[in-house]
Amino acid sequence: MADRSFSRAPSAIPVDDAVLPFEIASLDLRGRLVKLGPLLDVILAKHDYPLAVSKLLGEAIVLTALLGSALKFNGRFILQTQTDGPVSLIVVDFRVPGALRAYARYDRDRLRDGQKTGELLGRGHLAMTIDQGGAMSRYQGLVALNGGTLEDAAHEYFLRSEQIPTRVRLAIGEELDQGDPRPHWRAGGLLLQFLPKAPERARQADLHPGDAPAGTAIHTVAEDDAWTEGQALIETVEDVELIDPDLSGERLVYRLFHERGVRVFATQPLGAKCSCSRDAVASMLKSFAPNDRADMVEDGRVKVTCEFCSSTYEFTPEEAGVEQA
Ligand SMILES: [Zn+2]
Repeated sequence: MADRSFSRAPSAIPVDDAVLPFEIASLDLRGRLVKLGPLLDVILAKHDYPLAVSKLLGEAIVLTALLGSALKFNGRFILQTQTDGPVSLIVVDFRVPGALRAYARYDRDRLRDGQKTGELLGRGHLAMTIDQGGAMSRYQGLVALNGGTLEDAAHEYFLRSEQIPTRVRLAIGEELDQGDPRPHWRAGGLLLQFLPKAPERARQADLHPGDAPAGTAIHTVAEDDAWTEGQALIETVEDVELIDPDLSGERLVYRLFHERGVRVFATQPLGAKCSCSRDAVASMLKSFAPNDRADMVEDGRVKVTCEFCSSTYEFTPEEAGVEQA
């Protein structure tokens, strides 16, 4: 980080598929803004998902980009939901410095018009895994999903696991360009964290004890004024601003925080990239039990399709290590 600061007007040029980190030093706030455009079309076009599933997966991709882009080392951040709703599984994988891939599993017969995130997911859990690769340890945090949004789950995760006061906003929508019959996906997200030097300033009000018996005293904590102000500011962001293709990230961040002085850092580009390969699939096949390998032979070939990017890899039974009877 440069130790010489200077002021300039916010850039008016929108940058898609990128993360913009920023800091409001006077309030001890740090944050990241993500704007996604073409990357979403690339990932979602690889699958023939119904609209509601694409939308939900898109939100999960935004959340993963917001969280994964905090990683400094080489590694991966994996967000995964496992639930009993119509969308039973979501996996989004972020590889440093900015490669994203994602897929969802769903039951078409249980999809209905107008289902909200909570209804699509149902009950289960959200897991966030940080994998630093090699001999380094894996870290996994879990939060329950009980019919709420992905934003709710992220708040709960930061409250319980990291104890960092955090607010997240996510938005996604489809946009029709003039002269282009196909709609294009756009999404945006904003993450704000309160990181005071004195840890006691980071105390947070606990979640409301919804099922506590009547008359139970609710544990109240007065939150720090700086954090109260930060939360109020992030609440003023409108979904249309987060997905607006003509509004630059710098302008949006400036609009929100300029009165307190906001500093932006270099944007981190993001891209849709899968890490599958023929070699990796071949070695995965070799790790299977011989019977399972033999069961995969169809019309004299073994075919494996990558769930993330839908690439199909074909092997002869011999190449796949199938023992001939
Ligand atoms: Zn792939």
